[in-house]
Amino acid sequence: MAAKTVLILGAGTGGLVIANRLRRLLGKEHRVVLVNRSPVYTFAPSFTWVMMGTRDGRRISRDLRTLGKKGIEFVTAEVRGLDTANKRVRLDDREEAYDYLVIALGAQYSSEEVPGLSQCWTFYHLEGAEGLHERIPQFRSGRIAVVATALPYKCPPAPYEGALMLDDYYRRKKLRDDVDIHVYTPEPFPLRAAGEHVGQAVLELLAGRGIGFTAGAKLASVDHKARKIAFADGTDAPADLVIATPVHRLPDALRDSGLAGESGWVTVDRETLATAAEDVYAIGDVTAIPIAGGLALPKAGVFAHGQAEVAARNIAARINGSDPIWAFGGHGSCFLEIGGGKASYVSGRFFAEPAPHTTMRGPSRYWHWAKAGFERMWLWRWF
Ligand SMILES: Cc1cc2nc3c(=O)[nH]c(=O)nc-3n(C[C@H](O)[C@H](O)[C@H](O)COP(=O)(O)OP(=O)(O)OC[C@H]3O[C@@H](n4cnc5c(N)ncnc54)[C@H](O)[C@@H]3O)c2cc1C
Repeated sequence: MAAKTVLILGAGTGGLVIANRLRRLLGKEHRVVLVNRSPVYTFAPSFTWVMMGTRDGRRISRDLRTLGKKGIEFVTAEVRGLDTANKRVRLDDREEAYDYLVIALGAQYSSEEVPGLSQCWTFYHLEGAEGLHERIPQFRSGRIAVVATALPYKCPPAPYEGALMLDDYYRRKKLRDDVDIHVYTPEPFPLRAAGEHVGQAVLELLAGRGIGFTAGAKLASVDHKARKIAFADGTDAPADLVIATPVHRLPDALRDSGLAGESGWVTVDRETLATAAEDVYAIGDVTAIPIAGGLALPKAGVFAHGQAEVAARNIAARINGSDPIWAFGGHGSCFLEIGGGKASYVSGRFFAEPAPHTTMRGPSRYWHWAKAGFERMWLWRWF
């Protein structure tokens, strides 16, 4: 059997899992090559803990170059474009050929769509979470707006988690009466894809802690001087500290790939993760997968992970000469930290018809410790 090269673009959640899994499933004669712009991986679910100071960047980061010891070839480079007709990928200063390609480039952050957004605070990347950790102790009175700027954004519970953890922080500091916290989202209710009962449970958590909530609010601009945020429907609101999700969009490297559909994201077969191009798969946030109710599968690491497991097995089966029989079923779960050492847990079958079938458990200490255990296990298992 001729030696094959599987090229994986992006070493985030999906890329990390699929590289590890393929390395175990394929013989040593086959190459598993993993490309990422940075040699450092960071565990995003812990960013809210970084913001609150219970984690630091070093503890949740790992050096991707150490994957070499497992036989995964790691390349630090920027992906510039694809040539799927000739099975090649353009990197910074050279091209890399592949037999099988896995696109796991995630969502690209952007702020140019919304005036003032680039100067807002965010915990959607490590530097932002570290910056907030410095800023929050200095902010002792006024109004914090936690804004889900535009849809889709990854980890739909994260803005709620951030708001609940800020509430917990200011209560402990006995400053909560002086600090007003309000969440804004373009969705009609929180975590829409998980269903109304989950949204209702999140609303009760917010109301129980005196956190304001506005649905259907699409951020149009932020006026830092006037301390105001304005929305697409013409309304506005005061905001002394704006913590916002960035706009998420298709990575520039894929703009001319021909793989993006009407959604603006890469189109895949939702069970096999195959794209329209031969031997090209896409997993994780870079894809848009339709589910019941005209919605899309949320962008979350748990799905990137599940998709990576399926695509790895099917690629390995094809290389090893057996049938690619694995299918992604849309199962997923997620923690929602609420502060005070407690968390809730949302899980469900997102491909269920006529609507996703989901449940929300907690909040309790158990789910908080389950998340801490998951973080530890994750950083150990894939490195
Ligand atoms: C604050 C926060 C909390 C979260 N909490 C959870 C949670 O509790 N549970 C959960 O399931 N999900 C959570 N997520 C979401 C989760 O992190 C993402 O959905 C997941 O990482 C997506 O995986 P991915 O492999 O598709 O993309 P990513 O993990 O984003 O990886 C993409 C990789 O590609 C690289 N890349 C991109 N473009 C290029 C290029 N042109 N050249 C080279 N490299 C490139 C990036 O640097 C990155 O390393 C959270 C996210 C955030 C921000």
